[in-house]
Amino acid sequence: MYAGEPELYNKAMSKIALVTGGNRGIGFEVCRQLAQKGFTVVLGSRDKKLGEKSAAVLSKEGLAVHSLKLDVTQTGDVKKAREWIEKKFGRLDALINNGAVLLDGDDTLLELKPGIFEITIQINLIGCYNTIREFLPMMKKQKFGRIVNVSSGYGASAMLTTKVGAYKLSKYALNGLTRIFADEANPKQIKINSICPGWVRTRMGGPDATREVKDGAKSVIWGALLDDEGPSGGFFRDGQPISW
Ligand code: NAP
Repeated sequence: MYAGEPELYNKAMSKIALVTGGNRGIGFEVCRQLAQKGFTVVLGSRDKKLGEKSAAVLSKEGLAVHSLKLDVTQTGDVKKAREWIEKKFGRLDALINNGAVLLDGDDTLLELKPGIFEITIQINLIGCYNTIREFLPMMKKQKFGRIVNVSSGYGASAMLTTKVGAYKLSKYALNGLTRIFADEANPKQIKINSICPGWVRTRMGGPDATREVKDGAKSVIWGALLDDEGPSGGFFRDGQPISW
């Protein structure tokens, strides 16, 4: 190993993925499924302890998972994450922008409590902007990258009707972010897509949701596994295009 060489990465090693909000729900299962596919996974969690606990569960399953404190609204955290990954692995192959909140409750936009709109946009939209800004230059340099913005059917323009307004708008704008960043990258090398996991039984989706976590995660990881011919700048569920 020469001075300055990344600690762990060499060409024979697995691809590296970062998953935000990896401590529970779909993000946790995305970490598991990517690691089962041979990725070395960095499990991002805004709560350090929760992240360590979740990563330990996957490590016990024999999977290569590292935990990292990462609140996507904190640009200091995002920068530290990039520096840590660069030092340890020297590259990032897949970024899964999964961490998000749904805080609208049953309120209309007019009834939303102060701050709910702002924090929703801050996490669900600006958080993804922060991570892409930090990691896309690295992917451009290595001429390879897969970015999945975990979106929602609620982010489709046909769903811009009353209720769940802050969340819907955050995902609608996230879809726009996907398209613009995809246009700013070489689509042969870097694939940036919005992906809906479907309605999934998690804390966010609730117990009545129609899908198991493993199926939601499978929909998401499809975007990390795309080959050179795969699409970029699209909106998908279960590998099929869906309407903006
Ligand atoms: P979840 O169970 O509520 O988990 C959300 C995750 O996001 C948690 O790990 C949470 O961390 C994390 N998070 C929240 N704020 C964050 C921040 N500032 N920085 C980093 N991480 C943060 O939700 P889920 O159902 O797994 O949803 C995962 C993704 O799928 C989201 O993007 C969601 O919008 C999308 N989605 C879900 C459904 C569904 O039916 N479940 C449907 C469509 C789309 P804490 O544990 O610290 O809170």
